[in-house]
Amino acid sequence: MNKVLYDKEIQCPVCKNVFHTKKVRSSAVRVEKRDTDFCVYYNGENPIFYAVFACPNCGYAALESVFQEISPLGKKMILSEISPKWVQRDLGKERTVDNAIEVYKLALLCAELMNQKKGILGMLCLRLAWLYRYIGEERELEFLGHAVNCFEEAFRYEPLPIGNLDEVSLLYLLGELNRRLEQYDEAIDWFNKAVSNREIKRKRKLDMLAREQWLLAKEEYKRQKGQSQSA
Ligand SMILES: [Zn+2]
Repeated sequence: MNKVLYDKEIQCPVCKNVFHTKKVRSSAVRVEKRDTDFCVYYNGENPIFYAVFACPNCGYAALESVFQEISPLGKKMILSEISPKWVQRDLGKERTVDNAIEVYKLALLCAELMNQKKGILGMLCLRLAWLYRYIGEERELEFLGHAVNCFEEAFRYEPLPIGNLDEVSLLYLLGELNRRLEQYDEAIDWFNKAVSNREIKRKRKLDMLAREQWLLAKEEYKRQKGQSQSA
């Protein structure tokens, strides 16, 4: 028995099936370190693996925070597009990183079908990128790219915050994700917006981090330009 995990009982809003899914006890969460795009590493169980719920009966999956928020049209889409192809299986047990990737991809598919907000799609893609990063797979970059596109649209057209990402954190994150994708001019542009946003003064750590990564992006941009000139 894994005492760090516990079972949560959930009713699926699509098919009304009641099922159990594992979660990490908050008292057992041990943060080891964070990357500059807010990816967290844990000592022991990783709560990110368990932040998506999936109904074993109908195949509906979504982030815990929005699992119960589904429109009548969304339900219809799940029942017509997901459930008929769904091979019934329980994704709510202890999860490996590969299980987590599977369940996040299912949630992404459901979210796309339901025309979910871009902010939510961005969050799913960013976490998929992190899951691939944990195991050193290059598909990380593919999902970072999707996350950037979704978050840029969310920034322009959707109300903020997205989960705990407020406006200035999102500006910073767009800078950092573009930097990681070697899109330095976009990165510098977003970092500019972040450091000149008034709200950043209330977040000392983020302000410092934004300035550091902004400088790094400028240096990398110069190096990239230098290389393309000498090539
Ligand atoms: Zn269901």
